[in-house]
Amino acid sequence: MEKVTLKPKREYTVVHRHPWIFSGAVDRVSGTPSVGETVVVCDSRGAKLGYGSYSPASQIRVRMLSFGDDRAPDAEFVKERVRRAVSRRGDWLAPMRGVRLVNGESDGLPGVVCDAYDGWCVVQLASAGAEYWKAAIVEALVAAGAKGVYNRSDVDSRRREGLDGGFDGTAASAIHVTGSLAGAEPPELIEIHEGRVKYFVDVRVGHKTGFYLDQREARAQVGALAADREVLNCFSYTGGFGLAAAVGGAPNIVNVDSSQPALHLARRNFEATLCCSEMYGRPASVSFECADVFKYLRTCRDSRQSFDMIVLDPPKFADTKALLPRAARGYKDLNLLAMKLLRPGGILATFSCSGAVTPEFFDTILREAAFDAGRDFQIIGRTRQAADHPVSLSFPEGLYLKGVLLRAD
Ligand code: SAH
Repeated sequence: MEKVTLKPKREYTVVHRHPWIFSGAVDRVSGTPSVGETVVVCDSRGAKLGYGSYSPASQIRVRMLSFGDDRAPDAEFVKERVRRAVSRRGDWLAPMRGVRLVNGESDGLPGVVCDAYDGWCVVQLASAGAEYWKAAIVEALVAAGAKGVYNRSDVDSRRREGLDGGFDGTAASAIHVTGSLAGAEPPELIEIHEGRVKYFVDVRVGHKTGFYLDQREARAQVGALAADREVLNCFSYTGGFGLAAAVGGAPNIVNVDSSQPALHLARRNFEATLCCSEMYGRPASVSFECADVFKYLRTCRDSRQSFDMIVLDPPKFADTKALLPRAARGYKDLNLLAMKLLRPGGILATFSCSGAVTPEFFDTILREAAFDAGRDFQIIGRTRQAADHPVSLSFPEGLYLKGVLLRAD
């Protein structure tokens, strides 16, 4: 087995079980390990630290699979990791359940994500090691009872990993990394339930693996605050927070997103959820606006509209620390615009899924936006990614999604 030796004094994070080894920490590599191949990692004095997956093109040169073990990880080892992750998710095969089964580094499987919708697994293999162990991962999911395993590895991080079929935004490049890997082909739309809400998930063309399971708990919190409020749901995707607000008793809901297909599905989700239940009143009005949220908020400002609740759940603004200043400006503009549209006592539910933006930094951005808006706010709640997206204590980077619930004076 090839060996990666670290520079002197660069073993600290590995000893403390952080899974990433950056190229700058590597002193030398014996031989030429292939993309994703397992290497043994040693400190500068030659003491073994563990085993990891080698990625020659990536800044993250090695992703650790095990620490301090005697035995090198094999397919059985990877399958056991999958089994353990799945067993942590309890009754994932319950009908209509949507759940993240494998959450990458935090489940000991760097770069591997698997979401399950009503028993259909959708995988995202974003790193060299993840791709290398594809067969074992798929086999373990099938053995765990998956109805089928579908690949949605059309993520641009694969390019940084130098992987074949790296997604460059073209349909041709996506062909290699999307499609059925095992079992039956998933249906065109998969129905999942979240509390009283019904969602249809399109695993072929939906964002990520098809749905934002990570906001499940935040949607519940927003729904619990939504009664009698006029709601503006920005970056609605397929309706998420708008639907939570509807079942929470919001009478008027405006959903805004720039994606027409997402809004199309949002409309279907509202129909499915609200059509057949007498348990809760139907909202008096629900609308779907295909627009850029920044422009939409300015239009609202210019036409003096106001709301009792605004949800801001934008896409990732910063992938890396280098993009942080630009991301901060984006978040500040967005929140400033929304803060000005809130009626007294109105609630702003605002989120950031940029890993590089820490919760503390997000608070600072919100404080500055509130100052510029000339308004006082109270924090009445905080959210994070749902519990099926756990964060390993030794991998703080795993926390990417944070939310703040603010009440305006
Ligand atoms: N809140 C959703 C997830 C939002 S994902 C849920 O709970 O399911 C982010 C959404 O923002 C995507 O649907 C994307 O189409 C949309 N989007 C990205 N940039 C946008 C922009 N400038 N204006 C409007 N929508 C945008």
